[in-house]
Amino acid sequence: MASKGTCKAKDCSREVVAKGYCRKHYRLWKAGEMPKARYKTCTFEKCRKKRYRLSLCEEHFAAKTGKSAAAAPAPAAQAPAA
Ligand SMILES: [Zn+2]
Ligand SMILES: [Zn+2]
Repeated sequence: MASKGTCKAKDCSREVVAKGYCRKHYRLWKAGEMPKARYKTCTFEKCRKKRYRLSLCEEHFAAKTGKSAAAAPAPAAQAPAA
């Protein structure tokens, strides 16, 4: 039989013991040191935001692509000047 897989923590390939984490990371998870979110998180270093596209959160996706998804503070309420 195949194993349960490898730890879902970044750069960790130990065997899973619980919650998708290896022994070490499961301990961290229980200690509240790991993100508990069910969604996949941004792959940017130390970023735990929800993924948006390309394995990145909106912020880092915008930074990477140059498309500022959250740059405009206000909704497009103003019509172009005549
Ligand atoms: Zn691990
Ligand atoms: Zn991010």
